[in-house]
Amino acid sequence: MDLRSDTVTKPCERMRAAIASAEVGDDVYQEDPTVNKLEALAAEILGKQTSVFVSSGTQSNLLAMLSHCHRGDEYIVGNQAHVYKYEGGGAAALGGIQANPLPMEPNGTMDLERLSEAIRPDDPHFAKTRLICLENTFSGYVLPKNYPSAVKKIGSASKLSLHLDGARLFNAAVSVDSTAESLSRPFDTVSFCLSKGLGAPVGSILAGPSVLINKARRWRKVVGGGMRQAGILAAAGIYALKNNINRLKEDHEKANEICDILLKTFGEETASCATNMVHLNLSTNLYNGLADHLRMAGVTVGRPRWVMHQDIRAKDVRKLTKLIRSFKY
Ligand SMILES: *Cc1c(COP(=O)(O)O)cnc(C)c1O
Repeated sequence: MDLRSDTVTKPCERMRAAIASAEVGDDVYQEDPTVNKLEALAAEILGKQTSVFVSSGTQSNLLAMLSHCHRGDEYIVGNQAHVYKYEGGGAAALGGIQANPLPMEPNGTMDLERLSEAIRPDDPHFAKTRLICLENTFSGYVLPKNYPSAVKKIGSASKLSLHLDGARLFNAAVSVDSTAESLSRPFDTVSFCLSKGLGAPVGSILAGPSVLINKARRWRKVVGGGMRQAGILAAAGIYALKNNINRLKEDHEKANEICDILLKTFGEETASCATNMVHLNLSTNLYNGLADHLRMAGVTVGRPRWVMHQDIRAKDVRKLTKLIRSFKY
C-alpha cells in the first residue's frame, strides 16, 4: 500500500489492453491517430478549442508560460503554487519570465486586493505583467466557486491572461458536483494530469485557443517533448478520461473515512481531509512513530499528507483502519 501520492498508480488490465491495441503514427507530424483523438477529446471535455498532449504536468505548465509570456515578462502566482515552487524555476530558466509571488490562503486563493495591486503599471521601470496562474485543487482543496471569475475580472481589466494548473482538476469537479468544463471556463489555458488520480502511466494535457496551443506545440518540440508513436501513451489517456473520472469520488470517500479514524484515534484537529488527500497534524515524534508502525506492516507513507488513489482498495482501507487503531503511543 503506497500513500505517498496518486502518481504511484499502475495501469489496470483494461488500460493495458487499450495501450496494446492502440493505432499509432508519428505525432511530430501530427499523424498519430490516437494522440489526435485524445487531444480532441480532452479539448471537448474542457470546452476549449484545442489541446496538446505533453509528457508531464511540469512540461504543460512550462509550455503555457512560454506561450503566454515573452522574456522580461512577469506572472502573478501564489508563493506555494506548484508552478512557482516545485517546477525547478523552469519559466525563469528557459523563458526569462519572472514570478511575482503572492501569499496564499490554505484554500489556494490570493487576496484580491493584493492581486490587483501586484499588476505593474505600464512603465519602463517594471517588468510587463502578462499572466496570472491559479491552481485547482491546491493540496487537495477546491478553489471557492466564484474566485476564478473574480480573478479573471481583475486580470481582464489589464489585459492579463489566466492559466490554470489543474493537475487534479477532475478531483475538484467531482467533489463539488461540477464539470471540468465549467471550472475551466474563466481560464485561457488549462493544464491537467492524466498520470495522477486518473490512473494513466504518463502524460498531461494543455488546452486553450489554437493560437496559444500552436505556440505551445512549437515550444514542446524545442524542449525535447516532441514524441513519435505516442499513441501508445495517449491510448491510456483516452481510457482514463472515459472510465476513471467518476471513480475519483471513491478516492474522496476513502480519504474521508481515514480522516475520521485519525480524528477518533488522536483527537480533534489532528487530521483534515480535502478531496483525495488527508493532511495529518500530529507532532513530529508521534507522526514518525505512526509512519514506522505502518511501514512495518507494508504501508509506505511520506510527508504527513496521505493521498488516496485507485490502487488503494476497500480491503486496504480496512487494513489501514486496523493499523491506526492498533498504534500504541
Ligand atoms: C503533480 C503536479 C504538477 C506537475 O505534474 P508532473 O506530471 O509531476 O510534472 C503540477 N501542478 C500540480 C498542482 C501538481 O500536483
